[in-house]
Amino acid sequence: MYDKNKEIGCLHSGRCVRFRKTRVRFDGNVCAFGLKRAGVRAGWRGRFKTEWIMGKIPLLGRTLDELKEIVLELGMPKFSAGQIASWMYEKKVASVDEMTNLSLKNREKLNESYEIGCSAPVHEVRSVDGTVKYLFRTPEGNYIESVYIPDGDRATLCVSSQVGCKMNCKFCMTGKQGFADDLTASQILNQIYSLPERGTLTNIVFMGMGEPLDNLDEVLRALEVLTADYGWKWSPRRITVSSVGLRKGLERFLRSSECHLAVSLHSPFSEQRKELVPAEKAYSTAEILDVLRQYDFSKQRRLSFEYIMFKGLNDGMIYAKELVKLLRGIDCRINLIRYHSIPGVKLEGSDEETILAFRNYLTGHGLFSTVRASRGEDIFAACGMLSTAEKQSGKRLS
Ligand code: SF4
Repeated sequence: MYDKNKEIGCLHSGRCVRFRKTRVRFDGNVCAFGLKRAGVRAGWRGRFKTEWIMGKIPLLGRTLDELKEIVLELGMPKFSAGQIASWMYEKKVASVDEMTNLSLKNREKLNESYEIGCSAPVHEVRSVDGTVKYLFRTPEGNYIESVYIPDGDRATLCVSSQVGCKMNCKFCMTGKQGFADDLTASQILNQIYSLPERGTLTNIVFMGMGEPLDNLDEVLRALEVLTADYGWKWSPRRITVSSVGLRKGLERFLRSSECHLAVSLHSPFSEQRKELVPAEKAYSTAEILDVLRQYDFSKQRRLSFEYIMFKGLNDGMIYAKELVKLLRGIDCRINLIRYHSIPGVKLEGSDEETILAFRNYLTGHGLFSTVRASRGEDIFAACGMLSTAEKQSGKRLS
């Protein structure tokens, strides 16, 4: 018998999109914690009850083990989990009805509480250089952006892992927006699943909104589906996860995944990095490098450091020399990134000559470095420019 005063396992195993496995207190039939996280004010939560519980659970983003749990719960044969995975991850169907090797009865059972959970972008903006910025809306009414970057025979998608970000990096519009919510694996993967150009993708980078290691459970689940044999069978060498370097998450990510890693460094000096990347106060560069030194990056897994170049701030030769010293003995590369000005921040990007001299010094001293081409600046899609702050402030749950 349901008792609303008790902490119980999620009543919404057939309903709640986010907290199936979390032990939370419920308010009536609704996951009150879920509504709170979705930004609904306490006095208003009752109004959203019906809408919330009407939602079906997305299958997209479920690992094979999780799909097995679902089918067994519904009294379907265990092997149907593999069939569902194949329909979603290989054939990329848009509805349960298309899973024609499941019996009609089983499709009906599945349809009662579950759906694929894909939803097309609600808006897109195209850059003169071919880059496309997509806006997605989550079932909770949040907004996130993803950026599609075609480049010759490569096409990269920059995906988001959170709505906003807690890290508050000085040069980043997502950081200025603040944090609203974590994305589920389903919402992370939907950015790829529902991308009009998904068939052309060659690379995926977790460099959109959010700090992936701050939402590691969901990011790892998405990475598993992307790389597993039952999933999308992507090579981990085509996927890069970028992070400011949260120690525990970093260790777990390096143990649990073979995808490439990009660490946002931006300064070799701890005091200066604290200004640019406040996460340095909690996890120093020295600590991050200690973790990285324990892993072998000499083979196929790539470690890179991101370095945004700010005029007169971190682009002098003293910084290049310190970088060479700091990263000595670590198999890595440096990506030099042009800074793209954002409103309200008094920082300027380095000029071309300085960037090239910096790169030449690093490469000449054994630290392979590249200058990342700037893409999508005219549509606010370049590095550090993603933000849905405006959309979020006017968001509705309906
Ligand atoms: S740069 Fe990345 S980690 Fe820093 S605030 Fe922006 S999204 Fe967050």
